[in-house]
Amino acid sequence: MHSTQRRSKFYTDFPLCSDRASDLGIPVKLTIPSILRVAFCGVLFFAVAACEQSADDSLSRRQLQLVQEENARLVALVARIDPDNARTTALENGKSTDQNVAVLSAANERLRGIYRSDEQRRSAEKNLVVRTGIERAVEEIRGLKFKKPVQYEVLDRKDIRAALRKRMDAVFSPEEFEEYARAQARIGLLPEKFALREKLIALLGEQVAAFYDQHEHRLYMYSDATLENSMNRVILSHELMHAMQDQHFTLSKLPLTEKHNDDSAVAASALIEGEATLLMGDYAVQNPSAGMVLENLGAMFMQNTAELATAPRYLSETLIFPYQQGIKFASYGMDSGGWEAISRAFANPPRSTSQILHPEKYWGVREDPLRVEWADLKFEGKPAQVDNVVGELGVRILFTNWHDAAVAAKASEGWRGDRYLSFASGDCLVWKTIWASNADAIEFFAAEEALLRQRYKAQSPVSVERRWESNRPRALRLVRNDRAEVLLVDAPDSAKALALEEQFGR
Ligand SMILES: [Zn+2]
Repeated sequence: MHSTQRRSKFYTDFPLCSDRASDLGIPVKLTIPSILRVAFCGVLFFAVAACEQSADDSLSRRQLQLVQEENARLVALVARIDPDNARTTALENGKSTDQNVAVLSAANERLRGIYRSDEQRRSAEKNLVVRTGIERAVEEIRGLKFKKPVQYEVLDRKDIRAALRKRMDAVFSPEEFEEYARAQARIGLLPEKFALREKLIALLGEQVAAFYDQHEHRLYMYSDATLENSMNRVILSHELMHAMQDQHFTLSKLPLTEKHNDDSAVAASALIEGEATLLMGDYAVQNPSAGMVLENLGAMFMQNTAELATAPRYLSETLIFPYQQGIKFASYGMDSGGWEAISRAFANPPRSTSQILHPEKYWGVREDPLRVEWADLKFEGKPAQVDNVVGELGVRILFTNWHDAAVAAKASEGWRGDRYLSFASGDCLVWKTIWASNADAIEFFAAEEALLRQRYKAQSPVSVERRWESNRPRALRLVRNDRAEVLLVDAPDSAKALALEEQFGR
């Protein structure tokens, strides 16, 4: 039984272009079991004691008394788990007080080590039991079985960024990142000279508590994310859904790392995250122990974090979109054909964010995006450094940046396709958009014209029907044809603008 009403209670609070930063949905709280904190208490004292060789006699005796007391406590603790190793360390008469402190300190350190590893072992065993329970719950809710055991790997927090860096480097070179950021800046989606790669690593490193790697087919969990925490259990149900998707639908078949169509990559990711978030919601509803989490499910997505709060809108919105809008998309499919409909969607995934924003364009009469085709992709003998698609979501974010959310929603609707090419490290850009009707093309034209005027403080612009241009400070051309297409040319001078329009404007 699935109630969309119940779901919408939790998920409809997220306006697409909100100024509030939302989360990737996988936050975590650092939780050290209190018993371990107790066991760590003595460490600072001993470090000090070891350095202060010249401490006077009475201080030394006091230290000795304290390490002896600590020794007795630790021996009692270890006796319960490993009696053979629970020996009291006796004082040696021939040694000085300081030497005895050192001997006892070393013994205590050893006992503490035994206690800690046992604590870790027990917590790992406990995690295994909890994990198995969540796996069964995921199977139950989704109505599918895991085909093979899920592979788990525990990762230290300090290793996260290294792991993320490795994953990113496997897909994009640092140069590709730079060219991409320059092209995005030229369009107006990112600030100029934006350190995209570093910001992404920082953003993802901050957000994740666990993640599923579809290339390694492995579920990574963070060592500090204990499953005693109900929120972490809910997050695990989400990640387990990814493992399930991978086993049944092979996630690497989806265009998630597609380099020339960001729009289709975000759309595919919305299917994946939408389903996993939907399942996560059901898991939370069915587990009363997770009741607290349920109430905070909204907060979970809206959690403000430093990196996200300072990220350009384009980054934060495209990161959040697959969760926030993906769940609405998946719910729409569920309502029409249950989980079966979602399973079928993996064989033929949504191809544009337009289909995610307007689920009827996927689940109803399907409307796939139109492709902009150009015969020759070289300009002045050189291939485009970036060849990509902005998409309806991108247009919406762009106009939210430069206008407001209402203008953005209106001007981006009716998107049917687009493509842009960037040359000379973002100094030359062509961007062609295709619209459902001339009225839609006119709306986009007007919003883009206003953006260019405002952004470049365009001097002496000339406007004739279907055409707007300015030559300073940049050579800008905005041209609409009678096929509801709009071409933008953004070049350093009018000769280049003319050449670009000649080549890509037909
Ligand atoms: Zn996910």
